[in-house]
Amino acid sequence: MSENNTNKDMKRPMKRIPKKKVCMFCVDKIDEVDYKDVVKLKKFITEKGKMMPRRMTGTCAKHQRILAESIKRARVMALLPFKGE
Ligand SMILES: [Zn+2]
Repeated sequence: MSENNTNKDMKRPMKRIPKKKVCMFCVDKIDEVDYKDVVKLKKFITEKGKMMPRRMTGTCAKHQRILAESIKRARVMALLPFKGE
């Protein structure tokens, strides 16, 4: 019986179930992003300070726009690094 089980497992293709991405702001019902909230903003930028694409974060178009504005503002305020090296 155990042999049978092994076989079955081998045949089964590795299914990668992608995590369902939802907009973090929609979930929290946040309508504006505080540019001073660097901890939160940093979740949406890469190490290099580049904004994460929507596909990766799952942020909806509406909030991505708000987020982009906040990140830009945070950069001007020197809270976040500018894009690039
Ligand atoms: Zn949203």
